[in-house]
Amino acid sequence: MSLKENKCLLLPGPVYIPQRVLQAMSQQMMDRRGVEFQSLLEEVTENLKLLFETGSDVLLFPGSGTGGLELAIANTLSPGDHVLALTAGVFSERFATIAETMGMNVHRLSFPLHEGVDPLTVKTFLEKDTGKKIKAVLVTHNETSTGVLNDIKTLGEIVKDHGSLLLVDAVSSLGGTPIKADEWNLDIVISASQKGLFAAPGLAMVSVSPRAWQFIDSATTPCFFFDLRQARQSYFENRMTPYTSAMTTLYGLRESLRIVLEEGVENVYTRHRVMANALREGIRSLGLELFVSDEKASPTVTTLVVPENLDGGTLRKTLREKYHVHIAGGMGTIASSTLRIGHLGYVGRGDILNVLSALELTLQKHGFSLNPGAAVATAQKVLARTL
Ligand code: PMP
Repeated sequence: MSLKENKCLLLPGPVYIPQRVLQAMSQQMMDRRGVEFQSLLEEVTENLKLLFETGSDVLLFPGSGTGGLELAIANTLSPGDHVLALTAGVFSERFATIAETMGMNVHRLSFPLHEGVDPLTVKTFLEKDTGKKIKAVLVTHNETSTGVLNDIKTLGEIVKDHGSLLLVDAVSSLGGTPIKADEWNLDIVISASQKGLFAAPGLAMVSVSPRAWQFIDSATTPCFFFDLRQARQSYFENRMTPYTSAMTTLYGLRESLRIVLEEGVENVYTRHRVMANALREGIRSLGLELFVSDEKASPTVTTLVVPENLDGGTLRKTLREKYHVHIAGGMGTIASSTLRIGHLGYVGRGDILNVLSALELTLQKHGFSLNPGAAVATAQKVLARTL
């Protein structure tokens, strides 16, 4: 087929950017100390608070999600502090490694990759810490490398009872699933612009609880560009960022947040859940195995197991080159045995049906025996039931 189909980008980030947001990002620069910038920053910050569900503070920094993780640790902790890292995949491992790199004393509690964090195990661990040695707990809300959504609500209660700080990596969950920073006692929540909020890469964003500010005021890890105290002063005294921000990404983020609010935050979450369900049912009816159970499955990333005798890289190549559908490979120890489909941000019915159709054609081409048409038909049934 020589027809040039549109590229279908179903990676777990960066994600597809709709026209309205692309156009918003082609605006001229402005005075970063002027009123126009103040109102841009204010609108983005206020709308982000609706997604973080916090009445406390949200601050933006140029950078990617990893920068956000680093600044959350650097600002709240001091070298030598004891930290509990809940690990179950590449990104939760990265969070732990950042803390180690900055000189913290990291205790890892590791969980099976396909199951994610068990809050009760964390509770038992923290109850034994009667001397309150652990100062902070690090958790990845949505482990993008496995497709597990962790229960941060229950963790929030457990960590609060212990008295330590809860730092949450919400890089691939914000905008796709509820996050209630205040109600769930999440002290710092970190995300980035190129994921569920479908803007360009370039901005990390963090929500900061009043309790986190207390920790921040006494932390001694050196940092300059990422200093939250400095940022707080600029934001709240002058309504600006301390240094030049990623203005183009901010224009985009303002527009994507407007789109999210037009759809309605709850509707956005429902759409993500419905798309995930339709995709999962469709994958199952192809005769493929999903890496994570329905109960723990992420609404934004789905991981499937590569069938025996097939190669994930080859399947991805065919999907990309023949059908213009881009999905991600596996990561970490499951790099070669899994594939990942991102369905976060501006993702709808057409994307899910497209990837299932392309996956079926690709599998058939590589000799996998399946029931033709079953995946799309099954997904359609889920969509008809719930949309
Ligand atoms: N944490 C999670 C859960 C992620 O999904 C990612 C990106 N895939 C990161 C951290 C790192 O984000 P970035 O690539 O924006 O630095």
